[in-house]
Amino acid sequence: MSEPLKLTFSVGFVAGFSKVGDINARVAHQTSAMEGIQTHRRIQQSRGSSYVAEQRLSTELVHKGHQITLQGRADGYTPATDSELPWLEEIKTTRLTPAQIPAGVIQQHKNQVAIYGHMLCQSLGYPKLRVQRTYVHPESLEESAVCEELSAEALQIAFDEIIEPIIEWFKQRSNWFVRRNQALTNFEFPFEDFRPGQRLLAESAYRNVVRRARLMVQAPTGLGKSMAVLFPALKALPANGCDKIFYLSAKTAGQSSAETALELIHRSGLPLRSVVITAKAKTCFNPELPCDPENCQYARGYFDRLPDALALIREQSGHWDRTRIEALATSKMICPFELSLDTAVEADVIVGDYNYLFSPSSRLKRFFDGSKVSPYSVLLDEAHNLVDRGRSMFSAGLTQVQILSAIKQLKIERPSIAKALKQMNAALLKLYRERGEDRREAKIEHAELKPLLKRTQNFLGLIEDIELGQGTSKPLMDVFFEAYQFLQVAEKINEDYCLTLSASEGLRSVQLNCMHPGAQLKVGYDYVQSIVGFSATLAPKVYFSEFLGLTDHAHWLRLPSPFPAKNQLTLIAKFMRVNFENRKQSAHALVELLAQLTQSQPGNYLIYLPSYEYLDLIASRYHPCACDERVLRQTVDMSDSESKAFIDSFTADSRITGFAVIGGKFSEGIDLKGLRLRGAVIVSLGLAPRSIRYDDLALRLAEGVPGSGDDALAAMDSYDYAYRFPALQRVIQTAGRVVRSEHDRGVVILVDPRFCQSRNLDLLPEHWTPHVVSNAQEITQALNSFWQNPKQNELEGLESA
Ligand code: SF4
Repeated sequence: MSEPLKLTFSVGFVAGFSKVGDINARVAHQTSAMEGIQTHRRIQQSRGSSYVAEQRLSTELVHKGHQITLQGRADGYTPATDSELPWLEEIKTTRLTPAQIPAGVIQQHKNQVAIYGHMLCQSLGYPKLRVQRTYVHPESLEESAVCEELSAEALQIAFDEIIEPIIEWFKQRSNWFVRRNQALTNFEFPFEDFRPGQRLLAESAYRNVVRRARLMVQAPTGLGKSMAVLFPALKALPANGCDKIFYLSAKTAGQSSAETALELIHRSGLPLRSVVITAKAKTCFNPELPCDPENCQYARGYFDRLPDALALIREQSGHWDRTRIEALATSKMICPFELSLDTAVEADVIVGDYNYLFSPSSRLKRFFDGSKVSPYSVLLDEAHNLVDRGRSMFSAGLTQVQILSAIKQLKIERPSIAKALKQMNAALLKLYRERGEDRREAKIEHAELKPLLKRTQNFLGLIEDIELGQGTSKPLMDVFFEAYQFLQVAEKINEDYCLTLSASEGLRSVQLNCMHPGAQLKVGYDYVQSIVGFSATLAPKVYFSEFLGLTDHAHWLRLPSPFPAKNQLTLIAKFMRVNFENRKQSAHALVELLAQLTQSQPGNYLIYLPSYEYLDLIASRYHPCACDERVLRQTVDMSDSESKAFIDSFTADSRITGFAVIGGKFSEGIDLKGLRLRGAVIVSLGLAPRSIRYDDLALRLAEGVPGSGDDALAAMDSYDYAYRFPALQRVIQTAGRVVRSEHDRGVVILVDPRFCQSRNLDLLPEHWTPHVVSNAQEITQALNSFWQNPKQNELEGLESA
């Protein structure tokens, strides 16, 4: 028996549901969230004592037992008096006059007041109401009001008209929901059997999704995690009234695993729709232009042509990948990125980036509007990545080079903008002078930032007068977006942030670094019914529960490797010093070690180094030693197609030695099964260089994390949190490329004596049985023994770590 569908929509979403006309991003960028909140408050406070601000209103609509709730907060109203009608107001903060606001947006505002007006009459029994849209400039507070008097009947008619398309859509969606859920009840696991450990993961994920809880699973690479979480999440849909599954990841590789699993699932012919949301920067048809009708033909008339495209999507089950979305967008002349978002409303599974749930600027407000927990399950692929991604999502920077290049472009044609930018630059330089010009990185306090914030606000205020379009210089566009993001993040600065000035190679910038992303990530979890996060590296738990913001109410599960431990030979080369100071001296010995490995058994190998500079040094020295194998290198600016070509070169009968960076795109998410990869060498523990921001984090953690109350946390060395744990997680992920299936055998060599230290050894996975090698001879002996004796567990004469 399937639970009924219960969706909640914000009034804002409903008001814009049947939009017509164009996409116009300029309107959205006119004011920041904080400006909006401040302006609203000021206007509300000016309205007198009888004015009721932020009035919560809601209404429910039911169709065959399924239910939609509409809810929102009207900005304010004044109750009826003996002589005055009740008065409802919606406030819009804008730097545009009502005449400059596009008609489609005005219509949305009109819909919004009509919906609130109807709800107010309905809840308080008013027969008549005055409704007003008030447009306010954030600096001058100048108001332009549009007011009208409407009867309860007129508001009911307007409401019915606005809501009709939603009702029609909801009928379709609930019919689809019933059909889909019936089919899912009989849906079977698309493989013959589960791998060892995979069933336990699937069962735990199922229970978690049904209970609407949070689960974090550490499971070794090669277990088949994507299918092991996607399958139970689908099976749980009928049981928990859940509308959609979001499969979110940090990297394209994670999205590919989800798509591979979905492809198999779709083969069963289930009535199920899935879509991939590709990043705007990748899928945009006009990457150099702003999203407005004057500049982009795919923005122009987007909402007029969208219904045709959606009708086509609704007719079919199946997967909408990037190619299919782009083909449909081309044929209908509409924006592919916006089309993928609109397809997501019709989809049951959405594959995309973490940003779409967690980032304040990219969060999909149509699904996560903050008013109520949404009926969605979220699967977090390689969840360890969310710590670093959280840090970058919640951080921002302002770079001097962007400001200077915009000044250079604008000083003749737009002197007033150039002047505002010069003032920003002067405020930034003042910070440097006060901190000492020559320091690479310096910490600053929030109060010191105020003049720069004010200047940045002035600059954004001036932008309202210019048309950002085809003729707009790229430097101005770049500085505009950077400044906008900078102000958005500045509104959130608290003890989780470390503010720094940096001057690397003469490039000055101010950075607002979110070092502890837990609290802001938690905001994302609270939007949805259930979370299942999974990764090969979620240890130590205390580290991840802290930085992922999961100290409350999360279950943790740790699964053993499904593969025999003897299939992976793990060696620690303790005789070679590869820390920064010793790299040149040890290069020759390292190259010899690599040659020993690649010649011990012909095939494919990946050599991971901690930086591109070190990679180039070792790869160029290795090249002349290569026998008849190809030598490939990862490069800094490798495109997606070059990366694919790199990985596709590794075939069962190729002979390649590939050089890559630890923690880079070839360190996780690549699946080179069987003979496609014989072994990997990880050179150095890969500790990040000391930095003020991470030292500051360590210091803060040493003082105790407010409210954590966790003894285990207090017992940890704060340096571990900032440097050591992240480094070892990257090593474990990287080594996880080698043994990918029951039949895989391979070698992992860790080159750095620091791996032998017990505090590092203790963090390596339990199923590794590392042996310490003290010289080249021992390596040869260990490799020969491993390749020649597949069944042997112990390596004679070698020390177990
Ligand atoms: S195609 Fe590109 S520029 Fe045009 S609306 Fe879409 S994202 Fe914006």
